[in-house]
Amino acid sequence: PFRRSMRSWRLEGSSSTTRTRSLGLSTGASYHCAGAAVFPILSVRPSMAHPDIERVLLDEAAIRGRIQELAAQLSADYAGRRPVLIGILKGSVPFMADLMRAMTLDHTVDFMCASSYSGESSTGVVRLVLDLRESIQGKDVLVIEDIIDTGLTLGYLRQNLLTRGPKSLEFVTLLDKPDCRKVNISPKYCGFKIPNEFVVGYGLDYDEAYRHLPYIGVLKK
Ligand code: 5GP
Repeated sequence: PFRRSMRSWRLEGSSSTTRTRSLGLSTGASYHCAGAAVFPILSVRPSMAHPDIERVLLDEAAIRGRIQELAAQLSADYAGRRPVLIGILKGSVPFMADLMRAMTLDHTVDFMCASSYSGESSTGVVRLVLDLRESIQGKDVLVIEDIIDTGLTLGYLRQNLLTRGPKSLEFVTLLDKPDCRKVNISPKYCGFKIPNEFVVGYGLDYDEAYRHLPYIGVLKK
């Protein structure tokens, strides 16, 4: 079913550049990609992938290329300023580490951890399990997330962080599943828009496993 749906699926970078073209992949399928760059998304051969992974959605080259673009965009947008990057643990760790090293701009880093109350995630009750070390009052804040799904976590964080008086507050997410939204939140900076599927790798886990994978993929059923 996925292979069929892939044919109509658009993999989008959130950049304002609207260059669009087709990728002729080895599967013979044609995938439309809109965004500042187009990547070969299936260059990890199945034999090289983790045995639990059914499909690689975004390989290392695709992730690296898009992060370079995001870093360039952030470095330009925040030129002359010294933003604080707030990584949301644990999933944002690889993204944050690669993004900060690709940025040419002086910045500081801090971390937060937010979690849904177990068994109550559908109610949207989120709690803070680790708070910032430094004050963000009067600072330009960039919240770095791995993925936005319902938007409940970022909705909570936005409300929480705004009470602390930052000069500005924006969200940077590697992945966005816009079809799943319950809270009206749209990140200014987004790596890839992906379909409503559960993905792992590059920081994203299933039961704490698979965070170390250098690519993003879908688990076997
Ligand atoms: P939200 O509050 O937007 O529904 O969810 C945000 C959090 O849910 C993410 O930080 C991540 O921990 C988890 N999440 C949402 N979608 C996925 C997914 O496809 N894979 C994994 N591994 N985690 C996800």
